[in-house]
Amino acid sequence: MKQIDILELIEPFGKVLVNEPMKNHTSFKTGGPADYLILPESENVAAKLISMLHNEKISYTVLGGCTNLVVGDEGIRGVVIKISDDRPGFNSISIIDENTIYAAAGVRKSDFIQFAADNGFTGIDFMVGIPGCIGGGIVMNAGTYMGTFSSVLKKVYYINLKGEPSSTEVDSTMGLYRHLNLEKECVLITGADFTLPQASDSATVKQAIEAIIDDRKQKHPWEFPSAGSVFKNPENEASWKLVNDCGLKGYSIGGAQVSEKHTNFIVNKGGASSAEIRALVAYIQSQVKAKYDIDLHTEIRMIGNFN
Ligand SMILES: Cc1cc2nc3c(=O)[nH]c(=O)nc-3n(C[C@H](O)[C@H](O)[C@H](O)COP(=O)(O)OP(=O)(O)OC[C@H]3O[C@@H](n4cnc5c(N)ncnc54)[C@H](O)[C@@H]3O)c2cc1C
Repeated sequence: MKQIDILELIEPFGKVLVNEPMKNHTSFKTGGPADYLILPESENVAAKLISMLHNEKISYTVLGGCTNLVVGDEGIRGVVIKISDDRPGFNSISIIDENTIYAAAGVRKSDFIQFAADNGFTGIDFMVGIPGCIGGGIVMNAGTYMGTFSSVLKKVYYINLKGEPSSTEVDSTMGLYRHLNLEKECVLITGADFTLPQASDSATVKQAIEAIIDDRKQKHPWEFPSAGSVFKNPENEASWKLVNDCGLKGYSIGGAQVSEKHTNFIVNKGGASSAEIRALVAYIQSQVKAKYDIDLHTEIRMIGNFN
């Protein structure tokens, strides 16, 4: 389909950026242009957009805060639908009852935590310090040793392949390691209900949040762009230790470097390309395989076209 045709088709559904450099959106600060990046105004509009793209057979990719991604230097073909708090329609958060909060998919995790703590809820420690939006956190089943999204999710609202709104109850079997086992037809998450306990003392909850943030600041390389932990931990192993014990701390390919502060992070020291990040990931995997015969699998997701 000609460029102008797609633009005409999607323009009614929200703000469109043409040939938008993804490095302006990713936490790694790398990535080539998306043909079209659209910010839908609301859930209803996003549903109609998905329906139209499905009927017209136009390829699309749904993204959130872009904090878990390496986007290829040649960019992303087709339409990128960004669901973030840039649009008020995806930024709502409310108390449903004394144990339930609803949050739209574009709400930032930091805003969710603040809202929960301000309103006397607890059970959110695992989310503290994880950037990006609620939708991305659900898809990734993001978390830490303190818990994951699946431990507090009650119901996920989404738009299916045909552009119809739908929902699913979440049970504990759906939470896998950095993956929530949702229906295949779930293409765009619009929001979720979270079950959270009441805090006996709000001040203690806020102190605990501050302590976690301080701890993460000390351990993680916040001063450089990254996408968080690169590799999942293999069973009974810590990826950072395997990488470290291969002597790779500080190892660089171009502007991409194994962090000197935390060896499961790759950081962009300045001017890194996504190809360099990908090459460094492959190099680390080959070194760990050669030394320990262990396959490291990535937690970060590589999308789009690499050169
Ligand atoms: C400094 C730093 C620290 C981090 N620490 C942690 C950590 O402690 N624990 C952890 O788990 N992660 C961590 N991460 C990784 C990342 O922040 C999480 O995975 C986060 O939940 C991703 O959210 P996002 O909105 O940025 O998703 P994105 O990166 O935009 O997308 C992630 C995936 O979700 C999909 N997606 C996003 N939104 C939607 C939607 N609305 N509907 C359908 N699909 C969607 C995308 O297609 C993609 O496949 C860290 C990252 C950084 C940069």
